[in-house]
Amino acid sequence: MQLTQPFRKLKPSRGNEAGLTRMSTDLNRRIWMKHASVTLALLPSFFFSRQASAKRNVELRAKFKYQSTPLESMSCTSCLEFIPGKTDKDLGGCKILPDDDEIEPNGYCIRWNTM
Ligand code: SF4
Repeated sequence: MQLTQPFRKLKPSRGNEAGLTRMSTDLNRRIWMKHASVTLALLPSFFFSRQASAKRNVELRAKFKYQSTPLESMSCTSCLEFIPGKTDKDLGGCKILPDDDEIEPNGYCIRWNTM
């Protein structure tokens, strides 16, 4: 008898519908707040994990005079050392610039090579 008591309260009846609607709204708001707080809590880890995976070999970039723009018709996409990204426009890598995954497809350096 005691177990059915809470359900009896939720049963719609005249005069109780407004209360049920308010309960439903409160429940939806609580669920929404819970999802929003979980999303907000995970955002920094997503942001920092992306930052941590991006690498630049600053020393070798300077040594080989890397630039993010092509030189005349020479660019990384036409260089044999280029390691393409997921698409033609994504950043890639370079065989002579280890630990660097931010090579512009339209970049260039003095080690440009087609042989
Ligand atoms: S060697 Fe230079 S031009 Fe060739 S892919 Fe690497 S950075 Fe680009």
